[in-house]
Amino acid sequence: MAAQTEDSDCAREQTKAEQDVDQVRQRAARDQQRLDSGAVTSPKDLENLQKEIASLAKRQGDLEDVVLEVMERRESAQERVAELTERVSSVQSKLDDATGRRDAAQAELDREAASVTKDREVVAAAVPTDLLALYDRLRVKQGGIGAAKLHQRRCEGCRLELDITEVNEIKAASPDKVVRCENCSRILVRTSESGL
Ligand SMILES: [Zn+2]
Repeated sequence: MAAQTEDSDCAREQTKAEQDVDQVRQRAARDQQRLDSGAVTSPKDLENLQKEIASLAKRQGDLEDVVLEVMERRESAQERVAELTERVSSVQSKLDDATGRRDAAQAELDREAASVTKDREVVAAAVPTDLLALYDRLRVKQGGIGAAKLHQRRCEGCRLELDITEVNEIKAASPDKVVRCENCSRILVRTSESGL
């Protein structure tokens, strides 16, 4: 946008400078006409007129330099506009690409979440209500994990190894008793690798 502003500023400056050149040129032409017409006869007036024509020629040259300088600045502003426009479009296409990939990933995650939610409903329906309520309470309290595997006498929820008394209690408990970790309170799931 700054480069575009620079371009239009230069365009305005160029028009103004060209008008200045025109004015000086017209005035010099009028002076030249008067000189050529022979209407001016006094030597003093003739000399003044010639001086003015010379000074207008110099002025015209200076103003033409200004026009050239403005045109050069405008050209580089236009190059900059073209370069930046290309960069904008390249960044935009990268952005579009990334947005497309993000949306696809989001859709995939939504599909996965829907499928996992369905699976969970099926499993939850088979769990006794009071156990499910306990699990849900623990899950909220313990960062999303309400039950953990007991693996080699270690609670996989809090990663602490159970002491021998605890292990013996669990060993003695009947298979359908709900046992919990003394440290983190999570429900402990016993497997053949629990180290009991
Ligand atoms: Zn634990």
